Amino acid sequence: MESKKVIVTGGNRGIGKGIVLSLLEQSYHVLTTSRDIKKFDISHPNLKLADLDVCDDESVSKFQDIVNKYDPDILINNAGVTKDNLFLRMTEDDWNEVIDTNLNSVFKITKLVVKGMLKKKWGRIINISSISGSMGNSGQTNYSASKAGVDAFTRSLAKELGSRNITVNSIAPGFIQTDMTESLINEDLVMKIPLKRVGNVDDVASIVNFLASEESNYITGQTLVVDGGLFMK
Ligand code: NDP
Repeated sequence: MESKKVIVTGGNRGIGKGIVLSLLEQSYHVLTTSRDIKKFDISHPNLKLADLDVCDDESVSKFQDIVNKYDPDILINNAGVTKDNLFLRMTEDDWNEVIDTNLNSVFKITKLVVKGMLKKKWGRIINISSISGSMGNSGQTNYSASKAGVDAFTRSLAKELGSRNITVNSIAPGFIQTDMTESLINEDLVMKIPLKRVGNVDDVASIVNFLASEESNYITGQTLVVDGGLFMK
């Protein structure tokens, strides 16, 4: 069977890089992005790299041509940022940057791939959200709102595309060891996690692999929580 083609946004570090490496190991073809292609320290015969700033419309428009040529089967919307601050101190710029990077980007990049998936009558869209979107987090009104938006987007798009054999799901990680969480992880936090450890990028990548595979054929519109039990509804 021919290998499926995957786009992963923000694959130069952190969770995105873990996802890219794991997909390559499973023989997928992968196209991944960074705001600066020089930041990549990985190479592989099945890996293509592209510049993409999801907040820059010109960059997104250039990426459209690359996507059209690549013709992906699977999209992983992973790129994201935090700009944490207590609400009274949060600036409108911090609010807008986080909503633009984490939520508006999911709208823009998904738009680039859906027509191709409709033609193939097969597709997988996997959005990386966060438990912050359902649990809430002090200092993260912008981030929580963006990730709750991603989960709601996921459910609505899953309803629209289900009849065309395209599944749309999100993954909500808890605390995963990356640049984003470097300053947040401490002993007190670890003690609150039932599994008594923070996650690593492979904990998320393995779930991406499952959702990308035929084994997840009958799952759509779901948010899979990967947090060691930190947030239980
Ligand atoms: P990192 O900070 O390690 O990596 C973020 C990635 O997003 C980088 O590749 C970065 O690219 C890219 N990115 C940021 N802004 C933009 C932009 N404007 N345009 C294009 N790419 C951009 O974060 P993580 O790996 O930890 O996070 C990955 C995803 O997982 C995010 O969506 C995050 O919200 C989510 N998440 C992470 C958790 C964690 O505990 N780490 C928990 C829950 C969710 P560049 O190098 O160019 O800046």
